[in-house]
Amino acid sequence: MKVQSARLDGLGTTIFAEMSALALRTGSINLGQGFPDTDGPDEVIEAAVTAMRTGHNQYTAGLGIAPLREAIAAHQDRWYDLHLDPATEVVVTTGATEALAGALLGLVDPGDEVIVLEPYYDSYVAMIQMAGGVRRPVTLRAPDFRLPVDELRAAVTPRTTAILLNSPHNPTGTVLRREELEAIAALAIEHDLVVISDEVYEHLTFGVPHIPISTLPGMRERTLTISSGGKSFSVTGWKVGWATGPAALVSAVMGVKQFLSYMSGAPLQPAIAHALEFDEPYFTGFRTGMQTQRDQLCEGLDALGFKVFVPEGTYFATTDIRPLGFDDGLDFCRRLPELAGVVAIPHQVFYDDVEAGRPLVRWAFCKRPEVIAEALERLAQLGP
Ligand code: PMP
Ligand code: GLN
Repeated sequence: MKVQSARLDGLGTTIFAEMSALALRTGSINLGQGFPDTDGPDEVIEAAVTAMRTGHNQYTAGLGIAPLREAIAAHQDRWYDLHLDPATEVVVTTGATEALAGALLGLVDPGDEVIVLEPYYDSYVAMIQMAGGVRRPVTLRAPDFRLPVDELRAAVTPRTTAILLNSPHNPTGTVLRREELEAIAALAIEHDLVVISDEVYEHLTFGVPHIPISTLPGMRERTLTISSGGKSFSVTGWKVGWATGPAALVSAVMGVKQFLSYMSGAPLQPAIAHALEFDEPYFTGFRTGMQTQRDQLCEGLDALGFKVFVPEGTYFATTDIRPLGFDDGLDFCRRLPELAGVVAIPHQVFYDDVEAGRPLVRWAFCKRPEVIAEALERLAQLGP
């Protein structure tokens, strides 16, 4: 009996599930998997409850309800001056995860090469593999995790069809700068490549701007931009995401999505539409709150002796664990519950070049200040 397709062999990583289960089993504080420990705004939750009580419980249009597609288009216009037709240039998905699946299955043929930033978000590897594509990693390296533009250029071959970007970048916290985006754009235009741009942390940058690559000259027509309500409104379990871009790319996503889920989260869609219309103070408060937690965690880890790479965006900070006498992040994270009652995520599982990530560990700061404080207190047990 055949129990697994060869194409799924060794697919991706199960690190998030492993570490969250470990946290539960050992009563550890979970600074591993990235989800907030407080829910999003009451108003958003109430909007979903109201939608559920007022008949929004059946299948919607596959593309997503019109008010949400209109709110997504209005959001792109308000924040980035990007003008989209909500009827053809926006598709609502089951989280950013399904948008990524739709993009990679819908745009990549067997043998096509996809350039991807390494360390990569876990689902990228799995979906490129399921599409039969070949990943070409370009590594962001410590200490500054900037884009090595020459290596990016060297990664393009005649088989390259797409560049998969993530900025703000999970797990390094790098936010790509205009010059880096311009270099990527020049390459994409020169080689006629599609850019798939995962911008789920678009509202979480700290003191630097988030620049969607689709706003650069010549890029709107070749970029599929992906985001998620889960991240911007602290409802990661809702799994309402979207992809926006030229109609041909959006319809490639829809073509796949209709056979993955067709649609999902009917009563959650009007609630996210409502949230996307929040005024500036919501977004400022969200960002500054997260920045305060970033500073609390980074300063605390630094005081404990870790080498800390302070992130410019996302939910995550990265450290080098060697100053504390450890050298393998995976081994360290598997022992951390017993050593200190805390869970974190090792970088090395997100690399082909395992050595580049071996001593690096990622910590989530999307947690209440008292939880971060307690985690730091526990981690003090690691001290010399
Ligand atoms: N991309 C990145 C970079 C992420 O960190 C996440 C968070 N899990 C996702 C995509 C998936 O988002 P969603 O939960 O909306 O599927
Ligand atoms: N994006 C979250 C993280 O990076 C969740 C990942 C997951 O559960 N697959 O931690």
